[in-house]
Amino acid sequence: MVNTKKRIHVYAPFLGFSKKDIARLGASLGVPFEKTYSCYEGTIPPCGECATCKQRQEALEGIL
Ligand SMILES: [Zn+2]
Repeated sequence: MVNTKKRIHVYAPFLGFSKKDIARLGASLGVPFEKTYSCYEGTIPPCGECATCKQRQEALEGIL
């Protein structure tokens, strides 16, 4: 028999955050952004041209 009364809790703490807000919080917590990666092209170093590279540069501008 399937128990249909189990509750699911969804936590989305960054729902109201912009990428910049997340970058600021990360910086305040000591996140080593130099060890993170988000390029769509998968090149090393990151291409710097794709959408996620540009969003990343924007979010981290003035933070790193
Ligand atoms: Zn890229």
